[in-house]
Parts: sequence; structure tokens; C-alpha cells
Amino acid sequence: ASTAKMKAPIVSPQPQRRQRQTLVPAISSPNANVTTPGGPLPPLMPDTPNPEHQAWNNRVNAAVKNITGVEETAARQILNEIIVKGDEVHWDDIAGLEQAKTSLKETVVYPFLRPDLFKGLREPARGMLLFGPPGTGKTMLARAVATESQSTFFAISASSLTSKYLGESEKLVRALFALARALAPSIIFVDEIDSLLSSRSDTGEHEASRRIKTEFLVKWSDLAHAAAGKEHKDGDDAQRVLVLAATNLPWAIDEAARRRFVRRQYIPLPEPETRTKQIETLLKYQVHDLSEAEIRNLVALTDGFSGSDITAVAKDAAMGPLRALGEALLSTPRDQIRPVKFIDFEASLKNIRPSVSKEGLRAFEDWALKYGSSG
Ligand code: ADP
Repeated sequence: ASTAKMKAPIVSPQPQRRQRQTLVPAISSPNANVTTPGGPLPPLMPDTPNPEHQAWNNRVNAAVKNITGVEETAARQILNEIIVKGDEVHWDDIAGLEQAKTSLKETVVYPFLRPDLFKGLREPARGMLLFGPPGTGKTMLARAVATESQSTFFAISASSLTSKYLGESEKLVRALFALARALAPSIIFVDEIDSLLSSRSDTGEHEASRRIKTEFLVKWSDLAHAAAGKEHKDGDDAQRVLVLAATNLPWAIDEAARRRFVRRQYIPLPEPETRTKQIETLLKYQVHDLSEAEIRNLVALTDGFSGSDITAVAKDAAMGPLRALGEALLSTPRDQIRPVKFIDFEASLKNIRPSVSKEGLRAFEDWALKYGSSG
């Protein structure tokens, strides 16, 4: 395993929260490195000699030119900010969540890779909702789905549509769906979907928010119609575009919108086996002296913690040996730094508490019983 693999579960990639960049055409930007079928590409150059990059450049250029009813600026913005670049996530990077992985494979990955088998009764869903407490791996799952299904991955947070992009949001939504169809197979991942599809808006921009919501629902319906009508032209493949959404507030989504998510997958807090796996993965590349019994103890102590809570505890505990050194840290040779010990975890657990309360958890479980998809 490489260090890149070790990094994947720790670094939380949140491209949708990046600062807005200046609008540089993606194709000619030396920094544009776009996740495409076949993996992330190194920086694209306008006159790249690499045939794979040239092919992607050509595909994107053709897509931007051919789509109609979309402003080029909006299309460029999607290419620069919304298509996820870099770091890939694979199934193995995600501890546990076997049921969710199976469900995602069936709903998205297999239909995208074998469209010929998923017709008629096996027609794939156009929408899937991942819901559950924060920090449980919903974003990681979405990224893994994109990697494993070799899809172009569009990631946007719904709250940025209604705040950061407000004013240009409708144009962006149109460009988003048009590009997703042009660059299919595509996953449109919408984080915090509740803020887009809630029955009421608390942004204070009621009218504008409503318009974005309407535009999103219309484009999403168009997608379903085009897919059902088997309209499959070159450069427009509605059948292989899926809206994958995540929320920590599933109850805020209005009823009509909720029904459009044919599958609603609960992503719960990690079970003991999952916590064991995650803790072992986190410790794998760290010098430590935790015994098996201590790891079991740690698993018991992290009952009620989310995946990201556990990552936070492990990162904090890993600082223990350095903190113990104080200023001497600057002069101590690396091989004389003591291993991470169980006491470091104990100390960290005093400061880092689970982010979801028992009552909060019950609300998710109730909603899952009422509205979640089984299986
Ligand atoms: P969510 O989208 O559910 O809020 P994320 O997928 O963004 O949560 O997870 C946040 C961070 O928590 C990840 O970057 C990772 O470090 C850690 N994490 C959460 N769940 C898992 C998991 N099942 N396996 C490994 N790491 C996890």
C-alpha cells in the first residue's frame, strides 16, 4: 500500500467548499487535472502530446461547444470547480458499510459498466439518497462510486448553490445537467441536498431559492424522460447519469422531492467491526505499541463515534508522543520519538466527544424505518 492510500481515509476532500477561482478555461489551464474515466489526469496542457489527455481535451471541448441552451461561462465554471479533480477513493478505503456498498454497486456501478444488462425491469434508478449522521462516509462512498464506475464526478454542495453561486445558480444547474449528459457516465453528487429540496427556505432568499429548486427538479425530470425515451444521441447519454445526494437532515426534504429518490440508503454510525477496521487502518502507518486487547478496548470506547470522529481521535492521539517532548521536539532525532500508546488515545478521548447524541441518532433510525430502502 502506498502513502496515497494511507492518506485517502484521513484527508477529507471537500472540493465543493473550495474558494471560487478565476474563470480560466479548464482545457488550457496548466492546473486543471480532471477525474475522467481511467483515473485522474496530470495537468492538462493546451498542446499536450499525451494522446489520453488530448482525447479528454477534445471530448470536453466538443461537449462545451455542442450543448445548447447553456452559457459557456457556466459550463467552464462547472469544468473548473465542480468536476472533482485528483485523489481517488476506492471501496477498500472505506471501512465497513458493506450493505451500502452492495446497494451502490447494484444501483450505479454495474448499470454504468454494463448498460446492456440493465434494461426493462432492470432499468437503473435516476436518483439515490445517502442519509445519516455527519462524518459517516457518505462523501467517501460517492467518490468511490465515481472511481469504481469510471464516471465523471460532479460534486456540488447544495448550500453553495443557494449562497455562493446565487444569481448564477440556475445557469449552473442547466450547465451541470447538460455537461453530465455530454460527459456520461456521470455522477452528480449533491451534498447537503436538504438545503436545496427543503419545503421551506431559511436563506432569506425565498424566491431565488425556489427558482433554483424548480430548475433542478425540471432538469432531473428531463433526464428521466430522455432516459426512458431511449434518446441516445452521440454526446448525450441520459441513461448513464445519476443524481446521488447526501444529507444529515433527511426529514427536511419535502415529500415530492423525497419520492424521486427511488433508493434511500441509511449510512449509520460504524458498528464495532467497522470501527476495528478503521482503527487498524489508521494505525497501520504509525509507529505504535497498542496491543490487540487495547485496540479492542478502544473499539469499545468509541461506541457512538462516527468515522470522522474516530479519525479526529486518531490524529489527536498521534500527536501525543510529540506533545510529550515539548520544545525538545525540535532537536529529537526521529528514531527516538516514542510510539503512540493507548494513554494517548485515552487523553484524546477526554477532549473529543462523539458528534451525534443518542437522541439525534434515534431520529435517523426512525426516519430510516419509515422511508429508508431496505436491502
Ligand atoms: P459524510 O459525507 O458522511 O459527512 P465523509 O465521507 O465526508 O462523511 O467522511 C469524513 C471523514 O471521516 C472521511 O474523510 C474519513 O476520514 C472519515 N470516515 C468517515 N467514515 C469512514 C469510513 N467508513 N471509513 C473510513 N474513514 C471514514
